[in-house]
Amino acid sequence: MRIPITVFKITGIGRFALLEKLDAKQELSAAETAEFEKVRARCEKICRRAYDKNVPIMIDAEETWIQKTIDELALDMMRLFNREKLLVYNTYQMYRHDKLADMKADHMIAKETGFILGVKMVRGAYMEKERKRALEMGYPSPIQPDKAASDADYNESLRYCVANIKEIGFVCGTHNEESCRILAQLLDDNSISHDHPHVYFAQLLGMSDNLSFNLSDSNYNVAKYVPYGPVKAVLPYLFRRAQENTSVAGQTSRELSLIEKEKKRRKS
Ligand SMILES: Cc1cc2nc3c(=O)[nH]c(=O)nc-3n(C[C@H](O)[C@H](O)[C@H](O)COP(=O)(O)OP(=O)(O)OC[C@H]3O[C@@H](n4cnc5c(N)ncnc54)[C@H](O)[C@@H]3O)c2cc1C
Repeated sequence: MRIPITVFKITGIGRFALLEKLDAKQELSAAETAEFEKVRARCEKICRRAYDKNVPIMIDAEETWIQKTIDELALDMMRLFNREKLLVYNTYQMYRHDKLADMKADHMIAKETGFILGVKMVRGAYMEKERKRALEMGYPSPIQPDKAASDADYNESLRYCVANIKEIGFVCGTHNEESCRILAQLLDDNSISHDHPHVYFAQLLGMSDNLSFNLSDSNYNVAKYVPYGPVKAVLPYLFRRAQENTSVAGQTSRELSLIEKEKKRRKS
């Protein structure tokens, strides 16, 4: 099996409550400071291993109230490992109204510091949870006002990365056909080869194979996300996908209708 990219979550190597405390800039006890040093060391060890094996690695995005800490760790890893090759990617959730600007600001940091920026752009998986928490705690929602705004920033991030492809390597993580079509068109319009090493499409295992297979067949770089880990730890991930499959209007039924159409075609 060819594994083009790997991925991990910071909450897989560090305690959520600790990350939350750091994000809120609360003072840490000596034990907590030592605990975070261990998290950082684990993160660096994983990235160093990826570097030595020459397999790029992505860091997933999570809830906003721990994301600043994740972003800082990810940038630190890029400073260390992305100097002469594209190795570490951070994830930018475009359902957040501030993330397109953050991605551009990180690009400036990368340019000034002299490393390649690794970007995985996604729309974001915790929308209901984010909105609920903001409402309950009385702060402005970090989420875009509507789906169209998330789509607009997502597609703009593709344009921005294509325009800066020498300095940014990116993974377009989506099941959205329109975004995939836009990226494919952008590559053609800019005479960028389908298999340019700075561009990947990625879908989750069990979702949108119609996109993965057709893109791959047209020689684009495509990665399929395969979750693994202890059942208890991966169940929340699988529940999010199940919710998504029911909340994403039309996607599941569209995939089903495509499968039925294909079955009929093969029978005939
Ligand atoms: C390879 C890959 C890696 C991923 N990694 C991560 C990750 O690290 N972190 C993470 O959070 N998610 C991750 N996801 C999940 C991703 O964020 C989306 O939840 C999922 O892909 C659905 O979005 P879409 O672009 O595929 O499809 P679409 O159907 O086009 O978009 C659905 C998404 O749009 C947004 N949206 C829907 N309604 C509204 C609304 N009313 N207002 C504003 N926005 C709205 C939500 O983000 C929703 O999930 C990943 C997905 C893929 C394919």
